[in-house]
Amino acid sequence: MVRTIIQKIIKKYELIGYPRLVRLNPNIPWKTRGNGALCIQVGKHGRNSKRKIGQIEDQDIFCSDTFTKELDEGDQMQLAAIVKETVDGQARIDDENTNPGYVLLLKKPDKDLYWKAVTTIVTLEEVQALLRHQQAIFEGYKNSRGLIGATAAVCWEPVDRTFELITYRPSERWGTKRRVDLPSVQQMNADCPTTFDNYDQTNHHNRIAPHSPCPILYGIRGDDPDDLMTASALVKSEPVESWILFETNQGTDDHLQRKSIAQIKPFESVIIEGSVVGTPFTIQGGHVLFTISDKTGTIPCAAYEPTKEFRTIVRGLCEGDIVEVYGGVREDPLTVNLEKLAVKHLVTSLVKTENPICPNCGKHMKSKGTNQGYKCINCSTTSKDPTVLRKPRTIAVGFYEVPICARRHLSKPLKRIINEKQSFPVNLNENGYIQR
Ligand SMILES: [Zn+2]
Repeated sequence: MVRTIIQKIIKKYELIGYPRLVRLNPNIPWKTRGNGALCIQVGKHGRNSKRKIGQIEDQDIFCSDTFTKELDEGDQMQLAAIVKETVDGQARIDDENTNPGYVLLLKKPDKDLYWKAVTTIVTLEEVQALLRHQQAIFEGYKNSRGLIGATAAVCWEPVDRTFELITYRPSERWGTKRRVDLPSVQQMNADCPTTFDNYDQTNHHNRIAPHSPCPILYGIRGDDPDDLMTASALVKSEPVESWILFETNQGTDDHLQRKSIAQIKPFESVIIEGSVVGTPFTIQGGHVLFTISDKTGTIPCAAYEPTKEFRTIVRGLCEGDIVEVYGGVREDPLTVNLEKLAVKHLVTSLVKTENPICPNCGKHMKSKGTNQGYKCINCSTTSKDPTVLRKPRTIAVGFYEVPICARRHLSKPLKRIINEKQSFPVNLNENGYIQR
């Protein structure tokens, strides 16, 4: 839809900055699919470096850094007519999970609304009040909740950001099986280190191609827009009708808030440090549960079945281990649904292997009774402690994440975290990132 809107708008206006794909709180129960919104900034007489950011049919699309002329209410009305015509013609109103909405704002509202919409819950009433106050032109379809995401997307001021290059299919192919050559995706994944979440090797999941009947052919995510164009050229597929580069908040962890256990609220996403209580256990369906506690309380954490091999890490935790859990909060029962796990400290558990050996005679001593120590029957030498061994641990201190096939759009991949911390000696293995 944004593809069509851009195509119509650039006949008279120019794009300022990259088009944006903004994801919002992934834990809201009434969210639309993917809980995302698209946003473009439009101006007149753009100047400074023009960058190519896409191609629609045979036309190259550029954006400018700044513009010299502010748009007025007349422009706003003209643009609104273009948007309305496109949304009325293309929105899939019949899909029960889709509640579209559009907003046109002459001024950008405060960024606070973005942070609220990505971390907690924003009501439709507060968004509508803001839009009226800002003289926005807006329209919500069905339950109108699309207005919340659309407004929040306009308010986003990136602290961290990534990019996604999205390719589109010609309309006659919508709904048919996508043809995206898997070996070429695997090769692209190997050759383009600034891209992420393309392909899940362990679970054989090609993440770049969606499975819905939408017009998107595939989307490649990454840190560098130029690398994404190179990456896209490496993917062999059916014909690409159009492509657009989006600036996004995907892979940034913007949804997470560092909290204590007592502060946790349902539908938010949190980072909690605590110590493991008891032993992790597996319930029917293959979900793995454990509990953590801090000074303020205790909360269960879950690694659900779709998180696949990540559950093996979780099962390796022991009572007393210090961990930091990253994840969304489910309401009933209040549970942290894990996205990442930082294992900060592993307890050493000692297990008795045998009675101690007498240093004089070289023979095993005899127990004097429970907690009474040990004594040599030859020379009467005593010892308080049995021979103990460290219980072997199956996991190491380090950072672990759910596999690509189970990853949230907003979750920051460890691959990006490592790139930020290049001064740290780290090693990414199949299950996570181990600090050495
Ligand atoms: Zn002895």
